[in-house]
Amino acid sequence: MNILITGGCGFIGSHLCKKLVERGDFLICVDNFITGFRNNIEELLSNPNFKLIEHDISNPLYLDYKLDWVLHFASLASPKYYLKYPIKTLKSGLLGTYNCLGIAKAKKAKFFLASTSEVYGDPLISPQPEEYTGNVSIVGLRSCYDESKRAAESLTYAYMRQHNLDVRVVRIFNSYGSNMNPDDGRVVSNFIVQALKGEDLTVYGKGEQTRSFCYIDDLVGGILATMEVDYKWPLNLGNPEELKIIDLAKLVLKLTNSKSKIKFLDLPEDDPKRRCPDISKAKKILNWQPKISLEEGLKKTIGYFKEKLKGV
Ligand code: UDP
Repeated sequence: MNILITGGCGFIGSHLCKKLVERGDFLICVDNFITGFRNNIEELLSNPNFKLIEHDISNPLYLDYKLDWVLHFASLASPKYYLKYPIKTLKSGLLGTYNCLGIAKAKKAKFFLASTSEVYGDPLISPQPEEYTGNVSIVGLRSCYDESKRAAESLTYAYMRQHNLDVRVVRIFNSYGSNMNPDDGRVVSNFIVQALKGEDLTVYGKGEQTRSFCYIDDLVGGILATMEVDYKWPLNLGNPEELKIIDLAKLVLKLTNSKSKIKFLDLPEDDPKRRCPDISKAKKILNWQPKISLEEGLKKTIGYFKEKLKGV
């Protein structure tokens, strides 16, 4: 198949690119390199089935290729970056999605939106099923990300209804693994890098807030499974094992054998208190669920960061 992927040099996008090229697809990978890195897809650059285009998808893109799929993964997905670039974040969610939908419509291709658990905001129920409409602060610091992804979903379904576009939408919960940028600012990369460098682990607030972490290979399996089924409504993809951030810090210290201490910093504004996916739909429709335990996934990720930090 011929596939256009945006954000293909980012954390999730790069893993997906590898899998798609491996299975024999022809890939056009678009990235503007704000949070994506050429290193992440270096091994694919010499592959004739892989073409890299440096482009910001919030601007229109005209391609001569036939396409079967348009996968929109471009986004500033880490709070550190979307708080720094709120307008770019909104543009990639709004204009980027609009441009991708336009390409999919013109090429008669299927459209795949990488949405997020952030559409649920600071959820008042847990775990969150797809039917939950969320609790998002319209003007909060995170709204640039949350609202642009909510609008991206809305745009996607507008194209489905008005133009009969074949669409898939996945809501991705916290995920982690290789190809994360050490400087990404998210909790797993921060804690591992801090532990490996012997620096204090920065727990925000008292660390009582929870998240549920999915290893990248499991997540990519869920994404590929979603492309295979004929189901157009949003699907939660994540690992339902929920834990407190303070417990994640302790686990990282144990697994890295680090002598680092934990320091408590202010909880950022708008930080969701709980997040845990209800994956019953994905289990039923995709016959998918995560297989890799947090401990196993963290060990692999620690190995990745050890190598990565050698070069710094
Ligand atoms: N967090 C933390 N220390 C860090 C980075 C993050 O305690 O160095 C907390 C953050 O406040 C949030 C959780 O970890 O409650 C997950 O943060 P992350 O930025 O990874 O993703 P989010 O789920 O908030 O988008």
